[in-house]
Amino acid sequence: MFIGHFGVALAAKRVDKNISLGLLLFAAVFADILFFALVLAGVERMSIVPGITAASPFDFTYYPYSHSLIASLFWAGLFFVIIKIAAHRYDSLKNRVAPVVMGALVLSHFFLDVTAHRADLPLLPGDSYKIGLGLWNYFLASYLIEVLIVFIGLWIYLKSTKGLTFGGRYGMIIFSIFLLVLFTASMMAPPPSDIIGFAIFALVYQLLTVLVAAWLDRKRV
Ligand SMILES: [Zn+2]
Repeated sequence: MFIGHFGVALAAKRVDKNISLGLLLFAAVFADILFFALVLAGVERMSIVPGITAASPFDFTYYPYSHSLIASLFWAGLFFVIIKIAAHRYDSLKNRVAPVVMGALVLSHFFLDVTAHRADLPLLPGDSYKIGLGLWNYFLASYLIEVLIVFIGLWIYLKSTKGLTFGGRYGMIIFSIFLLVLFTASMMAPPPSDIIGFAIFALVYQLLTVLVAAWLDRKRV
């Protein structure tokens, strides 16, 4: 899944309003950040196969460390433990639900990807068991569902927090619309030609999105 993870992070604000949206989003897209870093390191692999699904030209050939179920459970557990320890130091993490919210967001990535991907998500390391419901085989449905998740997430986010300044009131709405426009453009654009260039772009995009989300979230109370 592409932008749907952003919608889920927005909605998570409702469960714990103290955690920065930047951290929530980092947890929700952690698997992809790790994946693109590992692609650049030559550890995990993808290729571009135009038409492999209607909505995505990406063939994820090897990504057990970032996207298998067992690895997702491991990363979710690690986030849980780190947040639990960090809660002693940082007030924003002191709510009892914080470790659960962050761990659940890391794990949510796997299940959202299961709906979108063709059967290429490994349950265990190795090629034996791979799952995926293949929503990406339906261009319009996958596009509309991702957009809908963002709208629902944004609506929940706006109801859970308050903006008192102009930036606080409209910043996150403008940012969400900007991301939706980028998402729409990327769905319409021809497939990228080069994996390394795409992985660098995707990694920078994910990290920038996390930083901007954290910055705009501070403007809301
Ligand atoms: Zn993913």
